[in-house]
Amino acid sequence: MSISGKPFEGQVAIVTGGSRGIGKAIASKLAADGADVVIISRSLEAAQVTADEIAAASGNKIVAYALDVANFEQAQEMATQIKTDFGRIDILINNAGITRDNIIMRLNESDWDDVIDINLKGTFNCSKAVIRTMMKQRYGRIVNITSVSGQAGQVGQTNYSASKAGMIGLTKALAREVASRGITVNAVAPGFIPTALTKDLPEELNAQILNATPMGRMGTPEEVAYAAIFLASAQASYITGQVIGVDGGMVMM
Ligand code: NDP
Repeated sequence: MSISGKPFEGQVAIVTGGSRGIGKAIASKLAADGADVVIISRSLEAAQVTADEIAAASGNKIVAYALDVANFEQAQEMATQIKTDFGRIDILINNAGITRDNIIMRLNESDWDDVIDINLKGTFNCSKAVIRTMMKQRYGRIVNITSVSGQAGQVGQTNYSASKAGMIGLTKALAREVASRGITVNAVAPGFIPTALTKDLPEELNAQILNATPMGRMGTPEEVAYAAIFLASAQASYITGQVIGVDGGMVMM
């Protein structure tokens, strides 16, 4: 905790998929609590609009960076650039993600590859890109945004569920690898959150999901962000390899 009382003051955070939805909510809260934040999305324009908005609200250094997380080299370049510009990297939120839903009979190879490449390989790419810096610092926080679909499976989401289950495996394996270096790696598994990602779900599926949610309502990006920033904080120092559900009770493990 700094003299200003802001817990992330002096820290540098990267939020992939930070231009909108859950990532934007996480980036906003990190900035409000003192962090300098790099907002990543494929669209530089969208990332810039969000970065300007958060900078105006927080007064911190907030920059936009265009990156396709599925691209290994681009992810490496991003981390090198951020290390040069900011001097350190304390927090990585692997939040960028997509869906390409269909039952397996109708799922194309490209629907499978795109989802695995962005959601799962993207998490590997960005984690690998920052890990050396975090190891040298002997401090780091990685938070992976997975999903209830990766815990329990979801009809029409073999690709997405596999990518999100893969993120959970990656979280646990990496947590073990870097635990002795002051780096924690955890995951947040949201339930149903209204964003651009979920806006086109069929009415029938919406009703089914709400029916399977003990709280009987959708969550908000802010409710997911609170869990993510707790895991990203220095206070969460003895928590690693965990998956925290933010799902209104949908999956209880
Ligand atoms: P949105 O579609 O609202 O936002 C997705 C963000 O990711 C955008 O900033 C988008 O920007 C970025 N993005 C997508 N692909 C890439 C890429 N290849 N490289 C870099 N950035 C990319 O989704 P949500 O906020 O709903 O989802 C955020 C995360 O939460 C995802 O991982 C999702 O799977 C997960 N989640 C969401 C749930 C929900 O109900 N909404 C439930 C459970 C998990 P751009 O398109 O410009 O690249």
